[in-house]
Amino acid sequence: MTEQLLAKIEKSKETLKLASEMSQHYYQEPIVICYSGGKDSDVILRLAMDCLEPDEFEVLHSITTVDSPITNRYVNEVFAELKDKGIKCSKSIPVGKDGKPTNMWKLIPEKKMPPTRIVRYCCQVLKETQTPNRVAILGVRSDESSKRKGRDIFGVRGGSYSEATFFSLEHTAEVHREALEKEQEPNGTVWDCTLIKIMRNRDDTVVSPIYEWTDSDVWDYLTWGGWKYNPMYDMGYHRVGCIGCPLATYKQKLKEFADFPTYKQHYIKAFDEMLKANPKANGEWKCGEDVFKWWIEESKHITQGQMSITDYMNEQTDEWGLIVRKPKGET
Ligand code: SF4
Repeated sequence: MTEQLLAKIEKSKETLKLASEMSQHYYQEPIVICYSGGKDSDVILRLAMDCLEPDEFEVLHSITTVDSPITNRYVNEVFAELKDKGIKCSKSIPVGKDGKPTNMWKLIPEKKMPPTRIVRYCCQVLKETQTPNRVAILGVRSDESSKRKGRDIFGVRGGSYSEATFFSLEHTAEVHREALEKEQEPNGTVWDCTLIKIMRNRDDTVVSPIYEWTDSDVWDYLTWGGWKYNPMYDMGYHRVGCIGCPLATYKQKLKEFADFPTYKQHYIKAFDEMLKANPKANGEWKCGEDVFKWWIEESKHITQGQMSITDYMNEQTDEWGLIVRKPKGET
């Protein structure tokens, strides 16, 4: 292992320990590791198991309803191992506006449009709202996409903070230390930095301990430790997540729907329902299969002139998917 990676490992552990301490202090709850079954969440899990006690963190898997059966099985295997070690694991079922369990197939007709790269309403409902008022540990890395560059290790989302705000590890450690000192001065002037105010309010805080890791750092660490990882990577997948995710490349989507054809049928059925719910779209697309072809960007490769997504939206989303573009007519 290189010196550089060893330094990153130490920084990641320092981050986890600080996040855990702050979570206990301000939320009186342990941190929650958001575990997707992908390689980044496996790295975080192993780092946490190495530097924290079993009761200092919980592990949560959000059921996206579009993960592959292989990923679902893998998550069950990992959870069985964690439970044996006394680590609390749970799965969250996404809930719709009506308070009932929801899934991707229900969301598509409800939102009257397919999820897209820009309008990732599915992420907002299926993943990002699963840790309200907690300190959530994420596997976000800066080298995953240009949008993720320019963030930092500690951040806040949700509540009154519609714009994501980020703080470095060093800054966070300093303001937490100052806050603790001020708590010891009964008559002292209490002034908290934004992050401390956020945490005292128990707003949603997000922490990305491997934010500075590269793809090869992740693989080097997993290989060095002999840790297991999702078997999907050995099937030729570079990215493991929801089947048909709009963020995946056209090539990956083709592979996913060839490997898991039932999901294609579910999407087509959901697009059929969407067309019934959206008469405007019905004028351009004749059936769910037409939408599916457009959606997986087949038009870019085979035909031209499919409907533009700009026909459907009127508002800009932010990179966290917190403010989504809405279909025309929806407020
Ligand atoms: S990862 Fe992709 S498909 Fe899954 S919820 Fe997020 S945007 Fe949607």
